[in-house]
Amino acid sequence: MLEVIDINKTFDNGFEALKAIDFTIEKGDLVCLLGPSGCGKSTILNIIAGLLSPTKGDIKFDGRSVVEVEPKDRNIGFVFQNYALYPHMTVLENIMFPLTVGPKKKDKAEAQKIAEEYMKLTNIEELADKKPGTLSGGQQQRVAITRALVQNPEVLLLDEPLSNLDARLRLKIREEIRRLVKEVGITTVFVTHDQEEALSISDKIILLNEGVVQQDDDPQNLYLEP
Ligand code: ADP
Ligand code: ADP
Repeated sequence: MLEVIDINKTFDNGFEALKAIDFTIEKGDLVCLLGPSGCGKSTILNIIAGLLSPTKGDIKFDGRSVVEVEPKDRNIGFVFQNYALYPHMTVLENIMFPLTVGPKKKDKAEAQKIAEEYMKLTNIEELADKKPGTLSGGQQQRVAITRALVQNPEVLLLDEPLSNLDARLRLKIREEIRRLVKEVGITTVFVTHDQEEALSISDKIILLNEGVVQQDDDPQNLYLEP
């Protein structure tokens, strides 16, 4: 379970971007943070990931407070809008990379074995030897998600992961993401400003406006402006 408890974020310039943000995500649920540009979605993700510290409030994973825990020790998978793949490495090397650094690093053979298992799951085995620059947007997104999952994170954070894809691919990849996170059983926070996208994939939607949670409910119970 992921708990975001009474989070406040005031930036150095005095701007209060988040006001008493409070919500809970059950283990294995896929929850969308939905709202217009500037409402605070990325700020919340960055605070959950530990890339930004809250001015006030607490973040808990399975009851453990993580606000004092370094990003690298939080066991988070983060997928960025622009994928952030390492351009000089092959797909296989990109996916092995998180397994070959840090305190729990594996030897090369073990890392490759795990990477290949996950590449099967996301259906990108045939891309192993390619460089990211030669891949389509959808393929790069699959690689980024696979790289986030190999470390078996407790929480997966996706920041507008479909925004750089064309409309047809967006539909396809969002179905794939839903299937994948359910198969792996990982607690997932998916940021989007697209209402239809949020309605189609989430177990729960947290609707934000100007740094405040306006609604927090199942997609079918949500009241949305037409
Ligand atoms: P979203 O992801 O929903 O588009 P953000 O979380 O990026 O929104 O930003 C929320 C608000 O906080 C915006 O008004 C943005 O301009 C402001 N903001 C973000 N980062 C900073 C910062 N470092 N300093 C001041 N204001 C910021
Ligand atoms: P996103 O596209 O995810 O909403 P933005 O483009 O709003 O992100 O912000 C990109 C970066 O710029 C972030 O690191 C954010 O903290 C910073 N930023 C956004 N708005 C401001 C602001 N008003 N003042 C200072 N930094 C900002």
